[in-house]
Amino acid sequence: MQTEGPIDTNFHSHSPGYWPIEAMDQWGDYKWQLKNAVKSLEGIERHIQLTEEERAGILLSGTRLAMSITPHFFNLIDKNNPNCPIRRQVIPRVEETWDDPQEMADPCGEDSHMPVPGLVHRYPDRVLFLVTDRCGSYCRYCTRSRVVSGVGEQHLETQWEAAFEYLEKTPQVRDVLLSGGDPLLLSDARLERILSRLREIPHIQFIRIGSRLPIFLPQRITPELCEMLKKFHPLFISIHANHPKELTCEVRAALGRLADAGIPMGNQSVLLKGVNDSVEIQKALVHKLLMCRARPYYLYQCDLIKGSSHLRTSISKGLEIIEGLRGHTSGYAIPQYVIDGPGGGGKIPLNPEYIVERDETKVVLRNYEGKQFTYPEPQSCIAK
Ligand SMILES: *Cc1c(COP(=O)(O)O)cnc(C)c1O
Repeated sequence: MQTEGPIDTNFHSHSPGYWPIEAMDQWGDYKWQLKNAVKSLEGIERHIQLTEEERAGILLSGTRLAMSITPHFFNLIDKNNPNCPIRRQVIPRVEETWDDPQEMADPCGEDSHMPVPGLVHRYPDRVLFLVTDRCGSYCRYCTRSRVVSGVGEQHLETQWEAAFEYLEKTPQVRDVLLSGGDPLLLSDARLERILSRLREIPHIQFIRIGSRLPIFLPQRITPELCEMLKKFHPLFISIHANHPKELTCEVRAALGRLADAGIPMGNQSVLLKGVNDSVEIQKALVHKLLMCRARPYYLYQCDLIKGSSHLRTSISKGLEIIEGLRGHTSGYAIPQYVIDGPGGGGKIPLNPEYIVERDETKVVLRNYEGKQFTYPEPQSCIAK
């Protein structure tokens, strides 16, 4: 299997890339990027040669999850490497049609936790608010592919008024997470109306937005958007980068604008086979994220979403990655590895085992180098 060369940890610009130099006049305009997103077989084949698996995948993708790739992100594709980690994330493959009885349409059991359509209330004090079904580009392992992109079996039917009323009369909700789809695809005005409405509810302390647009479409992070968002603090943004290559100069500048607007950022990445399933790649990713002022937040074990078997890897691989980071690099660079409990268990943390032995009087631990250390339990806590 052909793999990528040595991991490049520098920031690069990839434009105009596959596009003619004249396109550079409009390159920075996010509306142009969306209008020129690559959505068809012909559109892709104009630029790169596809493998049989990709070709078949694209022809079959119209009923599961649409394909759409912004020119910005498309330019990260290595045309000479069929195993390019960018290709595997956004170009459909025939394996998506493989049937695996353990896979689910709604692996996180969201539909059964919706008090109002579009509002998922699983944890006591926070909710997930689905505000659109569109994204800048579609990740092939999307956990919400049942409702996202508009071609699947279900449709997102967020009931806006009922959702706001539910939040108003549910004082235990202190944290609202806007997601979708990608909330930053909404216009500034629309987003501002939603945020203002949430800020009118006194018990909502904390608002966050989950978005991959800083990665797929950094042009969307305009100074005007940042000016608007900073009126709603405390506001956090969870971004989604999986591979160091995604952190380009344009992305670093966009994340810098968000950070300068006082918006703390966390990164949520998904552990994907053939994309980022090695300690070296993850280490390069987390180091570049810190350079962009985004803290690694979660590393997700890939959900059992339909059509994702070729992208999933083992839990031992995830644990090996965390073990390869802890102690070996800055604590700020280490995400929490989690599995969303299949069927609706919520996020469950997974950690390598550092306890070698434990009894009433002591705990024997190993450190990142494998050396052992004993911590005696306080005398007062030992049962007599
Ligand atoms: C992930 C998620 C949240 C937020 O969880 P945190 O651990 O606080 O980031 C909230 N609601 C639902 C349904 C989620 O899936």
